[in-house]
Amino acid sequence: MRPIAVASTKDILAFDRQHLWHPYTSMTNPLPVYPVESALGVRIQLEDGRELIDGMASWWSAIHGYSHPALVTAIQEQAAKMSHVMFGGLTHRPAVELAELLIDCTPAGLDKVFLCDSGSVAVEVAMKMAMQYQYARGKKGKNRFLTIRGGYHGDTFHAMAVCDPVTGMHQIYRGVLPEYLFAPRPLCRFHETWLSDDIDDFASLIAAHSDSLCAVILEPIVQGAGGMYFYHPEYLRAVRRLCNEHDVLLIADEIATGFGRSGELFACDHASVSPDILCLGKALTGGSMTLAAVLATTEIATQISSADPGVFMHGPTFMGNPLACSVACASIRLLTESNWRENIQRIEQQLRGGLGDCDNLPQVADVRILGGIGVVELYHPVNMAVIQQRFVDRGVWVRPFGRLVYVMPPYCISDHDLSLLCKAICEVVALEGKA
Ligand SMILES: *Cc1c(COP(=O)(O)O)cnc(C)c1O
Repeated sequence: MRPIAVASTKDILAFDRQHLWHPYTSMTNPLPVYPVESALGVRIQLEDGRELIDGMASWWSAIHGYSHPALVTAIQEQAAKMSHVMFGGLTHRPAVELAELLIDCTPAGLDKVFLCDSGSVAVEVAMKMAMQYQYARGKKGKNRFLTIRGGYHGDTFHAMAVCDPVTGMHQIYRGVLPEYLFAPRPLCRFHETWLSDDIDDFASLIAAHSDSLCAVILEPIVQGAGGMYFYHPEYLRAVRRLCNEHDVLLIADEIATGFGRSGELFACDHASVSPDILCLGKALTGGSMTLAAVLATTEIATQISSADPGVFMHGPTFMGNPLACSVACASIRLLTESNWRENIQRIEQQLRGGLGDCDNLPQVADVRILGGIGVVELYHPVNMAVIQQRFVDRGVWVRPFGRLVYVMPPYCISDHDLSLLCKAICEVVALEGKA
């Protein structure tokens, strides 16, 4: 084969198939992948010249679309100054500015910022912070976590331990993966009437185990990769109250929901709740680079710093990467200075109309919409290779998993593109189960 830079698309695909892992895929029987040449706005351009309307925002992250000039400029200007410098003993304006912006826009009370590399690492950092906080208070026995079923918190070991035990395949890691506590998935959905007994199982668990519980960790309101499920804000409010009553910290994983996706800037805002620790990632840089942040209260930071060993035991090599921080600042400004709320409301309304049409199809079990998230749940798992091809043939990029066909498009998607996206979903879902 010729060097990759000049190889044909066919050669690239052959090499990829032989040598590259993709997310959650087989190395012996990989599904087809589509080579991308570039991406601009809401369009992904394939090497063969085809253009796809993007319905995924590259897994919640590209909220402003691709190659937004403000983000490109931020990266270029920062790269010309310094793309990286160690964060031990040094600091820089991009990190300081980002911390200020984050403290400003997140729920009240969170004013200490830890910058790290990815969502999973942010979850590890949050869990370590919670443990070190309890340790510093002399409560060494409080070292376990409580979460709810149906969650997803990342792929590293401790993050995995609080993912749904069934979909997260905990049986593979038995004996090594810590065994934590799981309350049932909330039954009351976002748009339904709140029934107060929905919190009973959670309340019993936290009461029974409060002596050994360090923190509750959950995705507020929207459970993402664990099932694309929206639960009632009163549930979250009750969790906050019970955490206070039982001296247990609350960690909110807003890696997927952060920065407007659910219709509020943060999903916690639906319940007017502040967590003790907040994890951010994905859309933090507008999808242009990997970066995550963990925000905590002064109380937590002070406790950790006041007891042996007097420091928080974490510090990644690329902590506070200036390139990522610069583009994160640009992305947050772009968002907060835009009319994002109206935009999300527009997308929500249009998804309601466009995907509502699928609801009467015999393949469809449920259609649910919240903010800029649209979900069509089928009765049977999709055939990935077949359905993926059908979407690409219709000029849209939608990546289902299991029984779920879902979209979370860039906020700048036009009404026209969104209607094409919805139409393609209804057409393709109607073909499910047919050859
Ligand atoms: C994606 C995600 C993570 C993991 O983030 P990575 O950057 O993939 O490590 C954690 N929690 C939630 C809620 C997520 O959606």
